[in-house]
Amino acid sequence: MERTMKAAVVRAFGAPLEIEDRPVPKPGPGQVLVRIRASGVCHTDLHAADGDWPVKPRLPLVPGHEGVGFVVELGEGVERLKVGDCVGIAWLHSACGVCEYCTSGWETLCKCQTNTGYSVDGTFAEYALADADYAIPIPEGSNLLEIAPILCAGVTVYNALRRTEARKGDWVAISGIGGLGHMAIQYARLMGLQVCAVDIDDEKLEFAEELGAAFAINARTVDPGEALKERIGGAHGALVTAASVRAYEQAYRMVRPGGCMVMIGLSDGELKVPIYDTVINAVTIRGSVVGSRRVMREAMEFAAHGRIKAAIHRRPLEDINRIFEELHQGTVEGRFVIDFGGPDLAYDENRIPSPMPWA
Ligand code: NAD
Ligand code: ZN
Ligand code: ZN
Repeated sequence: MERTMKAAVVRAFGAPLEIEDRPVPKPGPGQVLVRIRASGVCHTDLHAADGDWPVKPRLPLVPGHEGVGFVVELGEGVERLKVGDCVGIAWLHSACGVCEYCTSGWETLCKCQTNTGYSVDGTFAEYALADADYAIPIPEGSNLLEIAPILCAGVTVYNALRRTEARKGDWVAISGIGGLGHMAIQYARLMGLQVCAVDIDDEKLEFAEELGAAFAINARTVDPGEALKERIGGAHGALVTAASVRAYEQAYRMVRPGGCMVMIGLSDGELKVPIYDTVINAVTIRGSVVGSRRVMREAMEFAAHGRIKAAIHRRPLEDINRIFEELHQGTVEGRFVIDFGGPDLAYDENRIPSPMPWA
């Protein structure tokens, strides 16, 4: 009998996802099959389903790249993992491992990389494949639903904060307090940075202050560049998680001379930058995409010790189109996490063996 699983599938860009019964994939050499326990829903999944970017994924596609679960089957030649191990499946699904980028800590730039939930099927499904070398070990005792968002939101903002080169006591402005931004505030505080939060929604800004932002600015009603210059002389670093050209234009004016703006939000728009001001003020503008496995380990460690906590909303897979609608409207506080059922904790001694319905 063929083993089947439930999956949310994109059949046409911009159309609602279909919940389908599909064959459970078979792990090939070097791969493992993971029974998914939880998967965060990133705004990137929405961009993928809408075909927003110049390089479009091939359809049909199962999105999702913040998946955690238990290894249930090993492909040929897998030695580092065993059945029962708890792993994460992140955006960087695999890379070549030998190119200039892969061998210098920049595997996220590998030309041969594959991406979970984009170029290969992702984690909005009861089972997903992982490359054993790129599966992320989940620290013991982690709450699997809360740790899922670290796999993209967490690692991306942690990496971006490091790349602002801001030091303890410096100011960072976080533009966009959504899934990524609400984690950025927490990482920034842990790194000893002072935070100014910027969004266009007052509830998000209140939430930002609860999470430790020193102050917050609504970019719809106040010019955040002016406000930041007046109040603190501009930020040392700015993270733009909002996929909005306007947010980028505003963030450019938030940084002080010598500061750095890190670009994260993925719009296909264009940013116009004044050359004279950028040169004279020695401003850095830097793109940043997720983080290497090395950086992931650090981002995970912070979360494993409970110092970073994603604000999660558990939902069943069937809710995926409603989740997308809410993400689209920008009303989500924190992160939606799809709950597939099963034990909440990684390596909980009371946990029951991973259920395998076909066994
Ligand atoms: P989200 O929808 O949870 O959050 C977006 C936030 O931006 C919301 O709070 C919204 O209110 C706010 N916002 C919208 N317009 C704004 C504006 N003009 N100024 C300030 N704030 C504004 O999305 P998310 O999951 O946090 O993802 C954000 C973006 O980051 C997406 O484009 C996603 O594709 C991208 N992303 C990039 C990387 C990377 O590696 N570079 C990784 C993950 C996600
Ligand atoms: Zn993501
Ligand atoms: Zn490579």
